[in-house]
Amino acid sequence: MEFVQPDSLAEALAAKAAAPDAVPIAGGTDVMVELNFARRRPAGLLDLTRVPELGGWETDDGRLRVGAAVTYAELTGERDPVGGVLGRRLPGLAIAARTVGSPQIRNRGTIGGNLGSASPAGDCHPCLLAAGAEVEAASERGTRLIPVDEFFTGVKRNALAPDELITAVWIGVPSGPEQFAKIGTRNAMVIAVTAFALALHPDRRAVGTGIGSAAPTPVRAREAEAFLAGALDESSLWESRGALPSSVVTEFGRLVSAAARPIDDVRGTAAYRRHALAVLARRTLTWAWAEYRQSGAGVLT
Ligand SMILES: Cc1cc2nc3c(=O)[nH]c(=O)nc-3n(C[C@H](O)[C@H](O)[C@H](O)COP(=O)(O)OP(=O)(O)OC[C@H]3O[C@@H](n4cnc5c(N)ncnc54)[C@H](O)[C@@H]3O)c2cc1C
Repeated sequence: MEFVQPDSLAEALAAKAAAPDAVPIAGGTDVMVELNFARRRPAGLLDLTRVPELGGWETDDGRLRVGAAVTYAELTGERDPVGGVLGRRLPGLAIAARTVGSPQIRNRGTIGGNLGSASPAGDCHPCLLAAGAEVEAASERGTRLIPVDEFFTGVKRNALAPDELITAVWIGVPSGPEQFAKIGTRNAMVIAVTAFALALHPDRRAVGTGIGSAAPTPVRAREAEAFLAGALDESSLWESRGALPSSVVTEFGRLVSAAARPIDDVRGTAAYRRHALAVLARRTLTWAWAEYRQSGAGVLT
C-alpha cells in the first residue's frame, strides 16, 4: 500500500489528482477501523495530517469557515487555543460534538472526516443541515461550494469527485438558538439510534432542521421547517417572543417524524425511531424557543 504524506494543500491536491483511488486519512477514526477489520484495502493512503491549510477556522463576511481538519475537541472547546470560542459561535455543532465517542475520538476525529464517511448516523450532519452549511471541495481544477443538503448522495456516499478533497465547511454565523439531541443505546461511545438538530434563523424568519440515522442519508424535515416558520410568522411570534401554542409544537414533532425513512436494525426499530424523532423535535423546539424568548434582543450574538 502506498503512503503519501503531503506538506501542503497544493501537494495534497496533486497527489489526489495523480491517484484518485488513494483514500484520504485525517483523524483515522473511521479509516483505521475499516483497515483493521479488512473492510477496505486501498491501493494508497493520502495522509492529510500535515496539511496546514485544512486546520483552523476564521470569520469571513458574516460566515464561519471551519477547516476540514478541525476536531470535535476544537468544536466543543475541550481543545481550542482561543478558549472554546468556536463552540460558542456554533452551539449546535458543539452540542453534537460533545456526544461523539470518547475524549480520544474527539481529539482525533474531524468534521471533514465525518463528512467524508457520509454515514447517515454522522453527528455533525444534522447540525450542518439545520444551519444551511456548504461544503468546500477543492481539486487541481478549482474550488466549489456544495450545499450540504446536496452533499449526501446515498448510504455512505457523497458528492465529491474522485480528485476532490474537502477543504472546509462554511456556516452562517447563527442569528438564533441551535439545538441537537441524540438517542443512543447507552450514554457514551454510541452511534445514534436517531438524532435531530434544530436551528432558528430569526434574521431571515426561517427554521432549519436535520435528521440523523433515520433515512439512507441525513435529511431535512422540509415540511416541518415550512410549517413552523409559517406558524411563527402568522402569529408574529418572531417579534412578540410569546409562548408557542402546544398544537404548534405537537404538529412540528409529527412533521419531523413523517420526514424520516427509518429502517429496523440492531440499534432500534423503524417505529421507535419515528416515535423518538417526534419527541426529540418537540424537546429541541421547546428548548430553543425558551432560549429565544430569554435572549430578548432581536438577534442573538
Ligand atoms: C470508538 C468510536 C466512536 C465513534 N463515535 C462517533 C460518534 O459518536 N458520532 C459520530 O458521528 N462518529 C463517531 N465515530 C466515527 C468517527 O469518529 C467520525 O466519523 C469522525 O468524524 C471521522 O473523522 P476522522 O478525521 O477520524 O476521519 P478518517 O477516518 O480519517 O476519514 C473518514 C472518511 O473521510 C475521508 N476523509 C477524511 N478527510 C477528508 C478530506 N479532507 N477530504 C475528503 N475526504 C476525507 C476518508 O477518506 C474516509 O473515507 C466513532 C468512531 C469510533 C472508532
